[in-house]
Amino acid sequence: MLNVDLHCHSNVSDGVLTPAAVAARAAANGVNVWALTDHDEIDGIAKARAAAVALGMVYIAGVEISITWAGQTIHIVGLRIDETNPALIAGLESTRSGRERRAHEMADQLAVVGIPNAFEGALNFVGNPDLISRTHFARYIIELGVCADIGEVFRKYLTEGKPGFVPHRWATLEQAVTWIRGAGGTAVVAHPGRYKFSDIAFDAFFDEFKQWGGTAIEVMTGSHTVEQYSQYAKIAKSYGFLASRGSDFHGPGESRIDLGKLPPLPESLVPVWHDWGF
Ligand code: AMP
Ligand code: MN
Ligand code: MN
Ligand code: MN
Repeated sequence: MLNVDLHCHSNVSDGVLTPAAVAARAAANGVNVWALTDHDEIDGIAKARAAAVALGMVYIAGVEISITWAGQTIHIVGLRIDETNPALIAGLESTRSGRERRAHEMADQLAVVGIPNAFEGALNFVGNPDLISRTHFARYIIELGVCADIGEVFRKYLTEGKPGFVPHRWATLEQAVTWIRGAGGTAVVAHPGRYKFSDIAFDAFFDEFKQWGGTAIEVMTGSHTVEQYSQYAKIAKSYGFLASRGSDFHGPGESRIDLGKLPPLPESLVPVWHDWGF
């Protein structure tokens, strides 16, 4: 059976490893079909593809787009995109802009609660000056010894109501799905179990996602608990969504699930790759 991993990050966004090193780790873990899905950024794709092909993996061009819907940040993964599509490139560029200003505001808030020089500290972990993210701040806070791990950081800082959280307006759902589809890709709701919505809000969200042409959700993801694997398998079936599998790997020792190590998709689901010809 194919080992398909369609969600992970390199240091082109908030992952730790270079695109080529992520490819090597995926192949070593037995992945046959692989997508790098950096946040709001396609700059790693060429390197990832070259490494993947040299290692004998099927390469799928991907991206993970940040959107704001009903006041919450949601992530939409685009798979099998043409990363040279001008509207996609322009859209991602506009989504990335504003991250630096947001980061300065985050650092100002952290300074007030006794975490100094957080902008410079986070920047030390950044691989792409266009993409400074909360994860880079989290790594700095761990380096300082203020928190032991990423989970503790996001429980105490950087999230709504906690120091270092700066609300941000990302792209719209319509924009993200339209950019992905315009670039020939498939739009997938990333880790739906992470969003704090009522059933009614989820229903409205999934309906709107479908209306713009979204067709899939992640069921097997490193961000889901075992209970959520079956919960979102049911939801995929009831909404008629294709199902995706992706570790959401960010770095060794940091991510709960390594590349290629998730359980397979339940057999009753239609995989998002069902008609991709491999
Ligand atoms: P940003 O795009 O700058 O808002 O950063 C979002 C990133 O922070 C996500 O892609 C995750 O990598 C990380 N993140 C957010 N919440 C958590 C959490 N509770 N645990 C671990 N990582 C998280
Ligand atoms: Mn991330
Ligand atoms: Mn995500
Ligand atoms: Mn991700």
